Amino acid sequence: MTPEELRNIIDRAHYFGLLQKNLDGQLVHAPFSLTPYQLPSSLISQLQIHTQWSSLLFWKVAQNSDFLREILEPTAKVDEFVRFLLSLIPNEKRQDQQLLINRNDFLFERKENGELQPLQVEFNTISASFAHLSGRVTALHQQLQQENILKAAPLPHDAIAGFASGIKETIENLGWQDAALLMLVQPKERNWFDQMGLFATLSQRGVKVVRATLAEVHQKGKLKNGDLWVGPQRIGVVYFRAGYAPGDLPDEDSRSARRMLEASSAVLVPEASMQLAGTKKIQQVLADSSILSEFVPESVADQLKAYFAMMFGLEEEVEGRPAREFLEENAEQFVLKPQREGGGNNVYGAEIRDFLTSLPTSEDRAWIAMKRIEAETAESLLVVQEQAQSHQSISELGIFGLLRAQSDDLRINMPVGHLVRTKASNVNEGGVVAGYACLNSLISTDQ
Ligand code: ADP
Ligand code: MG
Repeated sequence: MTPEELRNIIDRAHYFGLLQKNLDGQLVHAPFSLTPYQLPSSLISQLQIHTQWSSLLFWKVAQNSDFLREILEPTAKVDEFVRFLLSLIPNEKRQDQQLLINRNDFLFERKENGELQPLQVEFNTISASFAHLSGRVTALHQQLQQENILKAAPLPHDAIAGFASGIKETIENLGWQDAALLMLVQPKERNWFDQMGLFATLSQRGVKVVRATLAEVHQKGKLKNGDLWVGPQRIGVVYFRAGYAPGDLPDEDSRSARRMLEASSAVLVPEASMQLAGTKKIQQVLADSSILSEFVPESVADQLKAYFAMMFGLEEEVEGRPAREFLEENAEQFVLKPQREGGGNNVYGAEIRDFLTSLPTSEDRAWIAMKRIEAETAESLLVVQEQAQSHQSISELGIFGLLRAQSDDLRINMPVGHLVRTKASNVNEGGVVAGYACLNSLISTDQ
């Protein structure tokens, strides 16, 4: 590719709004791939169904606060963040409407018989991001296909439209005059453009949006008869793009703002219980089939299990040995994960050995081990900071899901679009804003 051809493509990426902020706060193109990811259409349909079952599963888990407490209390003893979230679970329901916006992430292994095996990386119940930018990279690839720069047209999708209808319907259902969406954000958000996509779509549809950090909610927010107000605005739904990391709760002001949200009558996306249902510890425990089938019918449990990778707690026995001993021998084949979201927290492969030496056994329950997924690699052309480079890469597919419920009544449960992130195969983590991965589109092949 000539420098001029690359310039033309980057100009189009700007035109289509494939943007994020750099460390100086300026809008620059987000890293993107020029090699769309291909999957058979039958497999894509299966993953969409899997996402609906997963949404159902986590919705049920979140409603069972006794289960959450039983599993997470030992973790909470050694993890202050989990302890804080557990303390938020209310004793009584304040709002019978629920809205879950999630993303179900998969990597793919090629089996010996040639089949592609999807394995779930994790199910995100808070701040599932990139719905807007994923639509933007799809639009860019559509354009490049029209210009014969790319061969095949990507699979169209509109996750943001799905999110926006779920939010609008939920607000309308509350039946309150002029209730707004509160979009809870971090103070210096580099993924601002992705959030702005949802903000603008809601504005176009007549939904009022208030954007605020927890510090701002602390300053301007209050409860009136249990209802949440921020300044002059009554809030119907709170959509969290913050509050998933301990750094978001640095002081008593921010923690008290977070408590106020949970105590209010607003619909929280997600409630603390739903956020906790999405912790790695709960996902690890659910990988045990007898526990899984307490929440979903046996046939569904079988379908969910088929995509689980092996997981265990550090406090457990594995193959007749203490987990730590087992990991000492097999570190290369595993990933260690704490109860955190947002990337950059895991320990991979051989580094697990040193890490475990420095981790006191009293903190075992703050971590889980997961079998490292050996994703199939493919040659991809990636554009990062205006440079195009070919890499042997792996791709991670996320399916966005929307679930809306009233009391025990499930009103909506559907997949609403997807996200593909492609990264060089020697990179462990997956974050786009952090510069690890590139946004990509999906091509569905018939076979
Ligand atoms: P976070 O909640 O911080 O995003 P994840 O569990 O999603 O944590 O892990 C971050 C990234 O690490 C993933 O997007 C994926 O690329 C990689 N990863 C996580 N688990 C595995 C695994 N079992 N095998 C291979 N890569 C993994
Ligand atoms: Mg993740």
